[in-house]
Amino acid sequence: MDASTPSFRAQCFINGAWVNADSGATLAVNNPATGEIIGHVPDMGANETRRAIEAAAAAFPLWRDTPVAQRAQILRRMGQLMLEEQERLARIMTIEQGKPLAESRGEIAYGASYFDWFADESRRIYGDIIPGPADRRLFVIQQPIGVVGAITPWNFPNAMLARKMAAALAAGCTMVAKPSELTPFSALELADLATRAGVPAGVFNIVTTNDAAVVGGELTHHPLVRKITFTGSTAVGRLLLEQASEHIQKCSMELGGNAPLIVFEDADLDRAVAGAMATKYRNAGQVCIAANRFLAHASIADKFAEKLAAASAALKVGDGLKDGVAIGPLISPAAVEKVERHIADAVAHGARLLSGGARHALGGTFFQPTVLTNVSADSLICHEETFGPVAPIMTFQTEEEALRLANATPFGLASYFYSTDIARVFRVAERLETGMVGVNETAISTAIAPFGGVKYSGLGREGSRYGVEEYLEKKYICLGGMKSSDDMK
Ligand code: ADP
Repeated sequence: MDASTPSFRAQCFINGAWVNADSGATLAVNNPATGEIIGHVPDMGANETRRAIEAAAAAFPLWRDTPVAQRAQILRRMGQLMLEEQERLARIMTIEQGKPLAESRGEIAYGASYFDWFADESRRIYGDIIPGPADRRLFVIQQPIGVVGAITPWNFPNAMLARKMAAALAAGCTMVAKPSELTPFSALELADLATRAGVPAGVFNIVTTNDAAVVGGELTHHPLVRKITFTGSTAVGRLLLEQASEHIQKCSMELGGNAPLIVFEDADLDRAVAGAMATKYRNAGQVCIAANRFLAHASIADKFAEKLAAASAALKVGDGLKDGVAIGPLISPAAVEKVERHIADAVAHGARLLSGGARHALGGTFFQPTVLTNVSADSLICHEETFGPVAPIMTFQTEEEALRLANATPFGLASYFYSTDIARVFRVAERLETGMVGVNETAISTAIAPFGGVKYSGLGREGSRYGVEEYLEKKYICLGGMKSSDDMK
């Protein structure tokens, strides 16, 4: 590591203090680009998690009752601090996660935008007055749900936590967060920035662990935790939902995807290729809304595939800290094995390799950007999230067939299509079974719009004015004994 290597926080943050695991145990974190161990964080368990929950519960009344203008100011300051520290935070992210530095910078700005957005939303947590019988007045107020348990993944180590934290704190909730064991350092930085922004002790706590099941178990089995917010795999989401049933915790789940990208015969082909490149290779394809399957109309499929293969082959693979690198390493050897399995299975089902298809000469977990054509809908790659730099192209003849193929999955996070026919744009957008649809655009994530899925892709929405609702309870207040004006005569 050179002189520009940032330092890494080696402790967890509970009740306003930096602490070690009770046992002193730690877990090692590595740089996926080099395999080098970059530092250690505490390997905590149930006891530390319980203490964090109790601290969050103790801090809740103070934070709930903090004047909303003050809460908004703290959240806005948090976003500003992230931008002030963008370069340092981006380097930490690239070193622990692998993504190119330009993408890390973008993620920090994206994460900061949630604090800015929810700072404003915190001021708009309105209630209702319901017209009722003459002798009553009916009101609805919205109140923070309480302590939130947040579990986040490694692919966006800052933004996946920032968008939960910003919304929860805006609502007046307190939080115990468990980041991925693969990328804890970016999350720990958020605790430091929160303190500097003025977030009181106990309001935001972070527990790192090598045993996610133990910490997740404590968060879901503790009656003081009233809400679980999770981003990760459908399998773990399902488990957490089961566990959360014990104390009827409210749940938000951002789970796996299997996004189709459809290119219709009337598409602007160059725009479709540019959009495909952006969604497929960002973060080496390790994105839940990355296009996983490409469906091209038979009349333009060859042309689309050729252009995509040429653009893919031109991408530079390497260490994300190096200039000009567009694709970093995959997160782990297991991730590479899954990509290889998907390619081998697609080829066994008749697919043709147009570019890439193998590990990169750099070794480690670097993989070549890959384009496959003539892919069969029966291939594994069409049914499982690949989470790697592989673009499998299928063909279709009619709009009906495209929709049938696109919807032939239990997942429903994002979908994309390219068309210049305005009637088709509405028809197809309305029939795609996903929570988000990008039309002639794949860069759809923003703090101001609702992010979330349907079917196996999850429950609830993050970002936008809907995002804060996930952390609120509605309370109906019935005021009786009111006299109508007739009674007063
Ligand atoms: P991915 O496949 O993207 O790593 P996971 O769902 O395995 O997705 O991981 C997402 C997050 O869930 C990580 O923070 C991980 O540590 C956590 N996690 C994994 N297993 C469990 C579990 N049994 N209970 C709670 N959290 C878990």
